[in-house]
Amino acid sequence: MTAITRFAPSPTGYLHLGHAASALFSAKQAGPHGRFLLRIEDIDQTRCRPEYREAIYEDLAWLGLEWETPVRVQSAHFDDFQVVLDMLSDMGLLYPCFCTRKDIQAEVARIGNAPHGPDGALYPGTCRACSAQERSDRIAAGESYALRFDMEGAIKRVGSELVWFDRAAGKQIATPEIFGDVVLARKDTPTSYHLSVTHDDHLQGISLLTRGQDLFFASHLHRLLQEILGYDVPEYHHHGLLTGPDGKRFAKRDQSKTLRSMREEGMSADDVRALADQF
Ligand code: GLU
Repeated sequence: MTAITRFAPSPTGYLHLGHAASALFSAKQAGPHGRFLLRIEDIDQTRCRPEYREAIYEDLAWLGLEWETPVRVQSAHFDDFQVVLDMLSDMGLLYPCFCTRKDIQAEVARIGNAPHGPDGALYPGTCRACSAQERSDRIAAGESYALRFDMEGAIKRVGSELVWFDRAAGKQIATPEIFGDVVLARKDTPTSYHLSVTHDDHLQGISLLTRGQDLFFASHLHRLLQEILGYDVPEYHHHGLLTGPDGKRFAKRDQSKTLRSMREEGMSADDVRALADQF
């Protein structure tokens, strides 16, 4: 069995045991003759830090992992994401959204019983109704805006059912509509997780996409983007999430569980690998 797999952490903190498990799982799934890639997902320049990126390299090497270089660092490729956004825009599938978080909350509260998706309440569509004139006036006036995906238009454009396959959960019929008009370019950064991850997994030829179950639903949306953009469809394997003794998921903010703290406490890479080898 060979595959091209990847581990794609965001350098917003030090890696913990859950990351180690995920990275080891991905490397294992590549098989002895496959390829294992590391990608740094640092589009959020306010939360990501170069020292955490360096720490990722250090911690993964300490664990005994090897990956291909050069590593793709997403913040060096905003131009690539812009090209994709332009394509979607040319298809008429993006619209500017000037709403603040507060505006959206107020509108959702006003509607009452608003539909919710994996990331919370769906966007109520306020800016979808803006006229072309209003859009260009507000942009010309310097109002900041995000770019939202016209979900209904995108599904219509595809016109048929989309399917993807998860090695743990089996065949899935894509239901991207659960995300509503999701943001594909944020106000504060000219792309989004969903856009850049879908683009880069395609660009890097990932054939088996492994990641935690917390991102399972995201794959429904990524499948639609792949279809619209003419990308290959990888196979998926969403793995379980490692929990601590309290039954809670490992989180980056829980510094006591970082790989470096375990290392400093005298644990060996073998010890950590044994703890992390759970999927
Ligand atoms: N960068 C994402 C994270 O650190 C993971 C992306 C993915 O595996 O699709 O949560």
